[in-house]
Amino acid sequence: MTPEAKVDTNVKRVELIVAPPPKHWVGDGFNVHGFFPHGPLTGERMSPFFLLDYGALTEFPPREEPFGVGPHPHRGFETVTIAYKGKVEHHDSRGNGGIIGEGDVQWMTAGSGLLHKEYHERESNKLGGPFQMVQLWVNLPAKDKMTEPKYQAITNAEMAHVSLPGGGEVEVIAGEFGGAKGPATTFSPVHLLNLKPKAGERIDLTYPSGYTTAILAVEGSARLNGDDVLPHDHLALFEREGESITVEATEDSILLVMSGEPLNEPIAQYGPFLMNTREEILQAMRDFQMGKFGELE
Ligand code: MN
Repeated sequence: MTPEAKVDTNVKRVELIVAPPPKHWVGDGFNVHGFFPHGPLTGERMSPFFLLDYGALTEFPPREEPFGVGPHPHRGFETVTIAYKGKVEHHDSRGNGGIIGEGDVQWMTAGSGLLHKEYHERESNKLGGPFQMVQLWVNLPAKDKMTEPKYQAITNAEMAHVSLPGGGEVEVIAGEFGGAKGPATTFSPVHLLNLKPKAGERIDLTYPSGYTTAILAVEGSARLNGDDVLPHDHLALFEREGESITVEATEDSILLVMSGEPLNEPIAQYGPFLMNTREEILQAMRDFQMGKFGELE
C-alpha cells in the first residue's frame, strides 16, 4: 500500500533564487547589494516594497570621521533600516536624530519629505568592526504619500519574540507571526520578520494569495518548500499565487521575511523620490531646489 500523498495545492512556490547582485557604495558607509529594483524584480513586481539594499557582513577599519552618506532628500515612501551588526546613526532637517543599535530597526516615514544623513555610529566607527545592515523601501499608497514625516524607533526588545520548539525564535517587526503582532504601524498590510531558526528547525508561514513575498538569507541558509535551496546572502522571491511556505534551516540562520499586499498603483521614481506620476516627481525636484525639504549640513 502506498500512503496517501499529502499534496498541498496551496503552496506559494519559489519563483526565483537571486544571487547577490554586484555591490555598490552608498556614500562611503554602505557597500550594498541592490537586490531590487533590479532585473525582473521591478518596483511593480515587488510592490508594496520598492528597494532592497543589503549591506552584507563587512569589516570596517577604525576611523575618526564616521563612514556614511551625506544629506539627501526622500519623499513618498518609508525607509526601514535594520542593523544586524554595528550601529547606524542618523539625523535630519527637522532636528530629529538617533542611533539604531545592533538588532534594532528604524522605520522612517519620509512622507512629504525631509533631508537626512545616515552614517556609522560615531563611537563604534572610531573602533571599526563588523557591519551588516538592510535598508528596505516600503512604498506609500497614493493617498498617504504626502503624510507628515515620522519615525518608529523599534528596539529589539520591543519586537514580538516567538519561541520555536527547536530553540530558535522569530522576531516580529511588523505584521504578525503565530498570533504575535509586531510593533511597527504600516500604511498598507506588511509583514516583516526575522526568522532565527536553529539548524534543522522548520517554520511554516502563511500569507494571502496575491501578496508579494521574499526571504533574504542574512545568516545561514535554508531549504524552502522541501526542495528549493536558499544559500547565504541570497534572496528567494515567491510566486504571488499560493499561501503556504515551509522554511527548513540547514544551519543556524537569520532569514528576513518580507510579505505585503501589492499597492497596484502607478510608480514614478527619480532617485530618492517615489511618487505616482511624472508631474509629482517634477514637483518634488522643484520643492527640493526651493529648499522646502529643509536644511541640513
Ligand atoms: Mn536615506
